[in-house]
Amino acid sequence: MDVIMDIAEEFNLRIIEDCAQAHGCLYKGKEVGTIGDIGVFSLNVNKTIQTGEGGVCITNDDDLAYRLKLIRNHGEAVVGPAGYKNIVNIAGYNYRMTEILAAVASVQLKKLPTLNQARIGMVYSLVDQLLEIDFLQPLVSRPECKDCNCEENKKCKPTFYVFPMRFLPEKVNITRNEFVAALNAEGFLFFQGYTPPLYLQPLYQEKQLFKKGYPFKAPVNQHLNMDYNKGLCPNTEQLHYHEMTINEHIRLPNTQEDIDDIYRAIKKIIQAYHE
Ligand SMILES: *Cc1c(COP(=O)(O)O)cnc(C)c1O
Repeated sequence: MDVIMDIAEEFNLRIIEDCAQAHGCLYKGKEVGTIGDIGVFSLNVNKTIQTGEGGVCITNDDDLAYRLKLIRNHGEAVVGPAGYKNIVNIAGYNYRMTEILAAVASVQLKKLPTLNQARIGMVYSLVDQLLEIDFLQPLVSRPECKDCNCEENKKCKPTFYVFPMRFLPEKVNITRNEFVAALNAEGFLFFQGYTPPLYLQPLYQEKQLFKKGYPFKAPVNQHLNMDYNKGLCPNTEQLHYHEMTINEHIRLPNTQEDIDDIYRAIKKIIQAYHE
């Protein structure tokens, strides 16, 4: 975020933070979502706190807050009567969340510290156990963060919506997919990587939104030379094709015992493999 904020300052850009899965994370002592101009948090059913569907935008800027309210509520229908002059980007959408869901969200928010603490505890315990397994390398956070000595008020705190692990094929004689399949067969929901990069989705690969080739090959876009070939974002692809993630098992109501079960299952697979 430091680098992004520097670029934003240099070029006079506004920053919207996608904190969709980062409720309660700290970056150098600052709550994520409060560093840029607007922070956006998802409350969809998968997130640490959730209301089924929904989300929250936060900002300290009164004008941006007002604009967000307009955009949420069919912007154009009320801009006129409100006498609001800057109509840029205020198109007519319906992003309203119901008050019932907002009430659920308020209660969920109170649970956030407890939910995060449980999650972080499970992750670090799993990390300790995985240290023994040489072909799995848990990605915790920047190495300097976990045991860093920086001042308390400058600490970073990841909250692990997803827990990623590197799979090191050179250290073991099975493939990632075989290993994930074995874990799944043991009853654990490990994923093959994370979702594929956006540009590998059919929309981009087949270059079709409305009809074949449109708008990608439309005359007005021809100078853009849009390339969506594999290899565009090597790190994202590495995660998708070669690494592993979990998120089901690192949250309440799972307990330490469930985490121990994961470790036991991994040991069992390794043993069965040797046999
Ligand atoms: C979940 C998620 C979203 C989408 O949030 P919705 O509330 O489902 O629209 C966007 N970005 C990231 C990083 C997410 O994890």
